[in-house]
Amino acid sequence: MTEMNDLRALPSVDQLLQSGQVAEWIDSYGRSLTLDALRESLAAARAGVQSGRPAPGYDDLLHNAHHLLQTWMTPTLRPVINATGVVLHTNLGRAPLSRAALAAIQQTASGYNTLEYDLTRGTRGSRSMHAEALLTRLTGAQAALVVNNNAAAVLLALSALAKRRRVIISRTQLVEIGGGFRVPDVMAQSGARLVEVGTTNRVHLADYEAALAEPAAMLLHAHSSNFRIIGFTAEPALAEVAALAHRQGVPFVDDLGSGALLDTARYGLSHEPTVQESLAAGSDLVCFSGDKLLGGPQAGILTGRSDLIAKIKKHPLARAVRADKLCLAALSATLAHYLKDEAEREIPVWRFLAQTPEQLERRASAWAAALGRGEVLEGKSTVGGGSLPEETLPTRLFALNVRQPNAALARLRQADPPVIAYIENDRVLLDPRTVLPEQEDDLLRALRGLPGD
Ligand SMILES: *Cc1c(COP(=O)(O)O)cnc(C)c1O
Repeated sequence: MTEMNDLRALPSVDQLLQSGQVAEWIDSYGRSLTLDALRESLAAARAGVQSGRPAPGYDDLLHNAHHLLQTWMTPTLRPVINATGVVLHTNLGRAPLSRAALAAIQQTASGYNTLEYDLTRGTRGSRSMHAEALLTRLTGAQAALVVNNNAAAVLLALSALAKRRRVIISRTQLVEIGGGFRVPDVMAQSGARLVEVGTTNRVHLADYEAALAEPAAMLLHAHSSNFRIIGFTAEPALAEVAALAHRQGVPFVDDLGSGALLDTARYGLSHEPTVQESLAAGSDLVCFSGDKLLGGPQAGILTGRSDLIAKIKKHPLARAVRADKLCLAALSATLAHYLKDEAEREIPVWRFLAQTPEQLERRASAWAAALGRGEVLEGKSTVGGGSLPEETLPTRLFALNVRQPNAALARLRQADPPVIAYIENDRVLLDPRTVLPEQEDDLLRALRGLPGD
């Protein structure tokens, strides 16, 4: 009988609604969401009573309802502090945008705009023109098209140019990029017929030549982004393969992946082929991401011959994978930095890569001084994002010895904003390279919250 009594002791939703606190929640969260939370809190209490637990009091019921409201309304997509030293961290959103790119997004999104409007004629315009002029000026390509991401760019190029026809690719390049992007699968999806040449470690011009004896729609080159074959290897130069394709009248398409526009060798990394170089070597089409080494928003960019781009634009899939206005605004602003020769100063990805060990040492030391604990160690940052595998940049790390490093890492993830650090040799490590200077106060506050050694 106590169970019946306990159930009767629970207040009604109407009684809970009398609380002054609940009136405040209705102001902040709206009436229907607040009601949902109250009902859910009561339902949980009833279920608890039926399984033998005592009925919660009025205040507990309210507390639980409030907790539900907060849980439901805390965004799951939140800013974090990236202290991993991985500059293009795909899980942490890849490239942070420049101030100009952010301003362009704000301006474009807060009102109407010329997304598809021709101001001169007062008629419908084309969204594809916005970044095209900047891209062709920068890369020397005849034409360009921006789509949702590079996976879409490659799929679209194959679908529009090679459906049911042969596409020749070397076995050295049948890669899986991660996140489900596998070159053979993308080809199958597009309806193109995969023709593999060479072996896993070696491919020769003669292999391509033999495959080109039969008609083909495309010769595809895919940048092996995230892995490297070492040892007994061979791969003809891009220009040689492109020239061979051209002799047979077959378009040469390069999936470049990262799409660097600056020379990574300037920062002590090995040289990542640039878009300009690929086009100069004879690529008819080059596909790359907007948010890898380009340092812009998520996008897939196709640059190259205008007849090929025109054909791609007309394919029905182009509409399904088109870029949105925010992407085009941010991308245009990012590209402008390259044209104005200010990319290294204005684009966060290049600014992060350009930091010297001395600058990083000063930052890590300042953290140690501010906290009165921790030490500065030599370490390595990585580029990430499938760019330059195995390549590292010398950095300085802020290192903390704590009794329970995993617990400390979890606690840093609970901070607001969350801090993402890592563990090596039982030490908690933070790399200043990928921490924005304006985040340092938040970072130090999170570190102060950690228990002592
Ligand atoms: C990263 C990458 C892709 C996929 O690009 P997204 O912009 O992530 O869709 C495709 N090809 C190569 C070679 C890549 O490195």
